[in-house]
Amino acid sequence: MSQITLKSYDTGRKPVWCPGCGNFAILTAFKRALYELKIRPEKVVVVSGIGCHGRITGYVKTNSIHTIHGRVLPIATGIKLANHELLVFGFAGDGDAYAIGLGHLPHAARRNIDIKYVVHNNMVFGLTTGQVTPTTPVGVKTRSTPYGNVEQPLNPLALALASGATFVARGFSGDVNHLTYLFKEAIKHKGFAFIDVLQPCYTFYNTYSYFRERVYKLEEAGHDPTNLEEALKKAYEWNNRIPIGIFYKVKRPTFEELKDALRRGPLARRNIEDVDITGIYEVFR
Ligand code: SF4
Repeated sequence: MSQITLKSYDTGRKPVWCPGCGNFAILTAFKRALYELKIRPEKVVVVSGIGCHGRITGYVKTNSIHTIHGRVLPIATGIKLANHELLVFGFAGDGDAYAIGLGHLPHAARRNIDIKYVVHNNMVFGLTTGQVTPTTPVGVKTRSTPYGNVEQPLNPLALALASGATFVARGFSGDVNHLTYLFKEAIKHKGFAFIDVLQPCYTFYNTYSYFRERVYKLEEAGHDPTNLEEALKKAYEWNNRIPIGIFYKVKRPTFEELKDALRRGPLARRNIEDVDITGIYEVFR
């Protein structure tokens, strides 16, 4: 077995993201986390949706699938059910995850399936040249809101917490080391891990300095990540100070652990004749 280096995760393709795009930091942090935890590339599956973020599947040398708009979580769930020994990462954009794909987040969270879900939240549709998304702040002028957005933005962290997610975090593309730490903690967590990343779109909504002036780390502020009430309070903190880090982390049996049909090993390795059909039906229902 060859030795793992950082290059082991590199396809050699040059990213086509705009210079300065926050997606670079997410890509770097992801590869670093895999490398530091010595996870073999063939054990990893990356699923991405539609948007600028979606190109990440072309830049990481793992198993990967660049899927359709808003459907990262259903595809990732199917892969995890077929072979739950794989580390499955879903990457989605805010337009992808919080608009057309929003219905999937609460169910993956309450189910506690062991998938890692990273949302590149730049608060704008970047690929289609800058339209409003569900997380665009009020007043922001975009191509589709030339007089300023009038809709209240969605709070993804509060939604994930209210849905029963067992790991909820926020990262910032301006801090790769901290983002790497969050990815590593998400990988070590058994269960659904959700990371919303403040990922400035350098071209259509450049928020680097806005966030740089405001973000602070929960790990340095004495936050207790096992306290749901405190996590919810922090999820609503969005003013002169914006928290990043792990808001909430608790242990709960995963979906895979609770399902008899999966407890006996990955479905992908078993003969269909040996599998209890009732269990399979239940898994895929
Ligand atoms: Fe990144 Fe925005 Fe360019 Fe897309 S449009 S690659 S999100 S900077």
